[in-house]
Amino acid sequence: MNNYALAIHGGAGTILQSTMTPEKELAYKNGLQDAIEAGESILKSGGSAFDAVESAIIQLENNPLFNAGKGAVFTNTGTHEMDASIMNGKDLMAGAIAGVQGVKNPISLARAVMEKSEHVLLTGNGAMEFAKKVNAPFENEEYFFVQLRYDQLQQAKQSNSMILDHTEDNPDSYREEHGEKKFGTVGCVALDLQGNLAAGTSTGGMTNKKFGRVGDSSIIGAGTYANNNTCAISCTGHGELFIRSVVAYDISCLMEYKNLSLKEACDIVVMDKLVKIGGEGGLIALDAKGNIVLPFNSDGMYRASKKQNEEIFIGIYK
Ligand code: ASP
Repeated sequence: MNNYALAIHGGAGTILQSTMTPEKELAYKNGLQDAIEAGESILKSGGSAFDAVESAIIQLENNPLFNAGKGAVFTNTGTHEMDASIMNGKDLMAGAIAGVQGVKNPISLARAVMEKSEHVLLTGNGAMEFAKKVNAPFENEEYFFVQLRYDQLQQAKQSNSMILDHTEDNPDSYREEHGEKKFGTVGCVALDLQGNLAAGTSTGGMTNKKFGRVGDSSIIGAGTYANNNTCAISCTGHGELFIRSVVAYDISCLMEYKNLSLKEACDIVVMDKLVKIGGEGGLIALDAKGNIVLPFNSDGMYRASKKQNEEIFIGIYK
């Protein structure tokens, strides 16, 4: 029997200790710990990596500190359009949704697409129709309204820019409080006792995004990928660059075709290839042997990991 392992992220970006308050830091750490515990309790009792990934991401989606589910950023028209995907490394089955509104837990809807439709990716109105059909829980606008996200939208509109969650163009009030530029997407990768890998990612995308913009988080191979023969990956960062670099699948390919280790593959993709095209961000990676790598080319990344019989690791800064 294998040992289980899992890792999560809550977004990458300019996250500096010098501007973080002890209270905020504690809140983020608690949020990450709760998500690890949710996933680990499933793995510990022999449950699947796939279930663990969904469960950890639900915790993060329900936490307004992170840009997914409650806490998702506003679009240009003042709505929340969320993207998510999930993949099973055992059989390469996957499900994803993009541009859904009002759905409480987009990751579970992505799972439903995989399990209850013959498709992989559903978008917009079609995805919402499907959500109703499978009785996915919905929440009203009030649930998704977070003042900070609203302030971010007003600021982005003023400068007519699109903001990647908390960018340096954010309101001063926000920067004073948080002192950071970050991509608050969430994700999880897990390895279960049966040796199966899984990965999932969920996001609100970018503040002030328009015209049905879809990021990497719902694109299998870009923001999410899992394959028992190689690795499980979940990304966070500037989605357009992650799509163009096919980040998650590229790491898997470097392992499969070039026989590189997980760490070698991650270093090439995150620290070299992405940097060369200006793709700021990071990812969480786990291989079939239980090795974990958490690389990022930004100042920080909210991250945590746990291996069977080892202490939990929680990191924020470089
Ligand atoms: N990758 C996400 C997107 O582009 C943003 C993020 O990671 O926060 O939609």
